[in-house]
Amino acid sequence: MRHRGQFSRSERVARSRLAKLVHDQPLLCGSLVSLKRVCGKEGCKCSRGELHPGLCIALRVGQKRKMIYVPQALEATARRWVSTYQEAWRMMEEISQACFERFLKGKEKARGTRSDKTTERGKGP
Ligand SMILES: [Zn+2]
Repeated sequence: MRHRGQFSRSERVARSRLAKLVHDQPLLCGSLVSLKRVCGKEGCKCSRGELHPGLCIALRVGQKRKMIYVPQALEATARRWVSTYQEAWRMMEEISQACFERFLKGKEKARGTRSDKTTERGKGP
């Protein structure tokens, strides 16, 4: 079943997808938040309660969490960059899951080795 090295097929797919994403795609580690807003123009419908739909991106800048307004012209870009981040994150989780299974196997092996020694000592000649 294994074609190359130590990785399963699904892990290899996730790794190469992730590598491709981080290699040449812009991404933003944030989440998008829809909101309703008032534009402030006098006599606009929003002053009568018909608010404008808007989009913000919540993300960390340095150590601080920020909510940054996304102008309409950049909405598609923001959505794409955030979705690239989300996909990269999913790939990371998939790889982590595969590694975790390997880790558990290693743990079982290590435990087995130790308990064998314990048994040997316990039984003793
Ligand atoms: Zn308005």
